[in-house]
Amino acid sequence: MSLPPGPLFRPYSAYLASRYGAKTYRISVDAGFSCPNRGKDRREGGCTFCASTGSAAPYTAQEAEETEGGEASLFASLKRQITQGAAFLKKRYKAENFLLYFQAYSGTHAPAEKLKKLYDYALGLEDFRELIVSTRPDCIDAGKARLIAEYKTPHRDVWVELGLQTAQEKTLRRIRRGHGRAEFEKAFFLLREKGIKITVHLIFGLPGENEEDIISTLNYTAALKPDGLKIHNLHILSGTPLYEEFLAGEITLPAAERHRAYILRAFEIFPRETIFMRFTCDSPASLLAFPRKFPPKAEFLPLRKG
Ligand code: SF4
Repeated sequence: MSLPPGPLFRPYSAYLASRYGAKTYRISVDAGFSCPNRGKDRREGGCTFCASTGSAAPYTAQEAEETEGGEASLFASLKRQITQGAAFLKKRYKAENFLLYFQAYSGTHAPAEKLKKLYDYALGLEDFRELIVSTRPDCIDAGKARLIAEYKTPHRDVWVELGLQTAQEKTLRRIRRGHGRAEFEKAFFLLREKGIKITVHLIFGLPGENEEDIISTLNYTAALKPDGLKIHNLHILSGTPLYEEFLAGEITLPAAERHRAYILRAFEIFPRETIFMRFTCDSPASLLAFPRKFPPKAEFLPLRKG
């Protein structure tokens, strides 16, 4: 694919380097949350594409039992995740700055008082430069937005990563998201009102979607001017309802070249300030059924950066 001249996008690495001026890494944690789209057991139900591990980082999977126990074992697990994560990143990458990332499931799916206890505890374990909470739109209300905003200081920024995946209502229903655009917009503006930075998550290649749907989602999202964007190529994971649909011949996946073309359109559509944080999905090889032949993340976009 030939590329137009000039910088194409604002990469996350450049944003972090210019803001913190040193090697900055996320420490992802599983804090025992579930999500309202799942049953009492957090491994059951959910969006059709989501594995029972709820988008947790693979290296936090062994913590699942402890995080699902009582408060003492949850705190012990959080401490272990953070101290081990920091030690690893310092040794392997000479990390100097850390960002705390509540990644697994929905990081605001609890009463505000419980969230405060968890965030306070985890933030006290390391000198974090950011609190980043990944969640879904119906897990944000005014009280939670206010709480998250309170963690913003001159030394520490706050971000929420909000899953939208697609702006097409028909697809949101088909993938059983359990929310529509109205809930997304409500959460988005509650967070924005409080000065919280927002990253939106999108998936390209969802069932039944064509190029027109994807461009329409990009236009919808870009009009909101989110601070960051994470793009994922659809992964079909063993054991999910999506896997059954795939086996039944109901789904085709965009090849890498088509996914790249969608990303180039995103660069054209989004404001220049938007930080592009990722372009492909990461899934444990043991779970990933399809696609098996996608270029690795680091090699996916041989593109000039802004
Ligand atoms: S909302 Fe998130 S954690 Fe819950 S089922 Fe959907 S993708 Fe998984």
